[in-house]
Amino acid sequence: MAEISTKNIETIGYVVHGPKQDFKLENIVLDEMQDDELLIDMKYSGICHTDIVFQKGEIQICPYPAVFGHEGAGTIRAIGPKVKNTSLAVGDFVLLSINYCETCRFCRTGHPANCTEGTRLHLHGTRPDGSTAARLKDSGESVRCHFFGQSSFAKTTFVQETCVVKHPYPGGEAGMFAPMGCGYQTGAGTVMNVLKPEPESSIVVFGLGTVGLTALMAAKYMKVKQIIAVDIQASKLPLAQELGATDLVNVREVPDVVAEIKRLTNNIGADYAIDCTGVPAVIEQALNCTGMFGKTATVGVAPTGAKVNIDPLQWLLYSKTYVGVREGDSVPSEYVPKLVEMQRAGDFPVDKIVKMYDYKDFGQALHDLEEGKVVKPVIQWS
Ligand SMILES: [Zn+2]
Ligand SMILES: [Zn+2]
Repeated sequence: MAEISTKNIETIGYVVHGPKQDFKLENIVLDEMQDDELLIDMKYSGICHTDIVFQKGEIQICPYPAVFGHEGAGTIRAIGPKVKNTSLAVGDFVLLSINYCETCRFCRTGHPANCTEGTRLHLHGTRPDGSTAARLKDSGESVRCHFFGQSSFAKTTFVQETCVVKHPYPGGEAGMFAPMGCGYQTGAGTVMNVLKPEPESSIVVFGLGTVGLTALMAAKYMKVKQIIAVDIQASKLPLAQELGATDLVNVREVPDVVAEIKRLTNNIGADYAIDCTGVPAVIEQALNCTGMFGKTATVGVAPTGAKVNIDPLQWLLYSKTYVGVREGDSVPSEYVPKLVEMQRAGDFPVDKIVKMYDYKDFGQALHDLEEGKVVKPVIQWS
């Protein structure tokens, strides 16, 4: 068999050159794969809000130019000799998730999303050793290409081993699975791994994007009796109902969202709430709408320095909890295959929220996301 080259690989990717600059399709060259990496030919890339936050420069800890993207699915072209996972083979279809160090206290105890090295590994756009692997073909300028250990907005990329989850069904290649490793596991995992609502309980989902709707699917899967979907855009409510919401709250139509949720729950308040918006005023609603032993999860990224008001006496009297959850507190190697199983059984209908775009239509996908015309855009590399 001919040796597969893992050096000087010419490919294309969407490069961002500075804050608020467009995602620009450019020719890039990957220098040399390291022994603990895999070479992945991306077939599908999901667009997540975090990618846009970095493109806009709202968080600037990954120097430009950079290739973002952290929801990918593709095939393995080459495997470095120090990759430990012996179940992976060249040609396998894999789903990409977060990378993590594997050795810190939180990685060792089943919480890789809370890896103590997470910020550096996910957001600096480099390998763990600080190096970067790509350059622009024309100018030779260095490009960050290890965003979340993968930079999935490139057609071919070097990927960290911890990102890689083998698709559990050979031949089950599907673009709708590309967002497993971020958007889906964040929403579903927050419900299934952290909140763990009982069938007799009620849960409120604030914000009906990918995270909110996958949280809702998970609540339905757990047979939660009352699922209340809340959004400021009326157009998002019918899909929430189709996916299992028992009650809908159109924020523009009710004078007081918390009072409305109390009314819907026979004035006892909800048992669980999840905020997927990161908007401080909405987080306060998610906190205040729960009742006795109420538990609220924050999932949406609030602006740096944002504050919310709570009344500690209410927290004491009602024994309430407020918890932050990253990436659904999931272990991707176990949880991503579980979500694939659920989808195959009809319990995780992500096909209802995904729309495919040709890789050349990246700008259109962004536009449709901004306009609320699509919940989860996925780019297809041809
Ligand atoms: Zn770690
Ligand atoms: Zn994400």
